[in-house]
Amino acid sequence: MTRVSQSLSLKPKGPKAFLRRHVTKKRSLIAVILSFAFLFLCGVTGAAGHMADKMILYMHVARLYARDPDTTLAMPLKDVKKSQIANTWGAPRGEGRAHEGQDIFAPKGTPVLSATTGYLVKIGEDNLGGHVVSVIGDGGRKYYYAHLDSFAPNLEVGDYVTRKTVLGYVGTTGNADGTPPHLHFGIYTTTGAINPLPLLVDRPQEKPIALKPEPAKKKRR
Ligand SMILES: [Zn+2]
Repeated sequence: MTRVSQSLSLKPKGPKAFLRRHVTKKRSLIAVILSFAFLFLCGVTGAAGHMADKMILYMHVARLYARDPDTTLAMPLKDVKKSQIANTWGAPRGEGRAHEGQDIFAPKGTPVLSATTGYLVKIGEDNLGGHVVSVIGDGGRKYYYAHLDSFAPNLEVGDYVTRKTVLGYVGTTGNADGTPPHLHFGIYTTTGAINPLPLLVDRPQEKPIALKPEPAKKKRR
């Protein structure tokens, strides 16, 4: 056995071996040319570029699944306090449906901030939610923001968001039509919806900046 593996590990010599090495070189050259052609096509068509973007997003999201989920979530509406939310988790919503989230009421047009860091996986519409945004955060949790009046400008699927990112604005789209404007905030884990309320934490009140007189400039020496 030892002798066989030894003889196998030896570098082949002679014209045949030279030919084999030459073929391998040729093959890697073809691979390089094909990669360049692919990249060139990406640049020209943009289609493959879109595919590449999707691949990158999948990779980001896969990495998020490996992390522990957030233990606290920032209030999506800056000036609303947790104590102002009436707990409606699990409340009946007709047709045997239960409320899978919390409703946070605020005037139409109030900015909706991301409660977590993560990647934007959906900006679009659905029947119940109207204009909706979905963000995947740590632990692969999906955060669902619904009934938005409109989306934040320049937002794209695949964008990385933080707790300071504006996702959209409070509205009454979807089945919230005719109700007071509110954000429906939902959390979906890999095993189903969970109540967002125990995890929500008030955002710190922004202190007004005290205007100080500018100090006199010191002369440079
Ligand atoms: Zn709701």
